[in-house]
Amino acid sequence: MGYTVTCWSCGKTYETELDAPPRNRRPTPVKTMFPDAEQYQLEQCISGICSDKCYDKYIIIDPSVFTYDEKGRRFYKGERAVFIPDELIP
Ligand SMILES: [Zn+2]
Repeated sequence: MGYTVTCWSCGKTYETELDAPPRNRRPTPVKTMFPDAEQYQLEQCISGICSDKCYDKYIIIDPSVFTYDEKGRRFYKGERAVFIPDELIP
């Protein structure tokens, strides 16, 4: 179980999917503790952003190329895109 946090992008209060102790809620410790986690799961612990969908409001490319599932996970051309695809990065 995770812990309760509020997404500063959409305002939703939710439970993180990963349970990172407070002292570890920074990028390097979180990535080390959860090497197989998806980016949005890490981001919940690092910044509080709840989903790829909220994260993508702040990226430099147009997020309209993506679709999202009910959890806000990113899909590109019908495939799960854990990270922004390299081909889209200018
Ligand atoms: Zn959000």
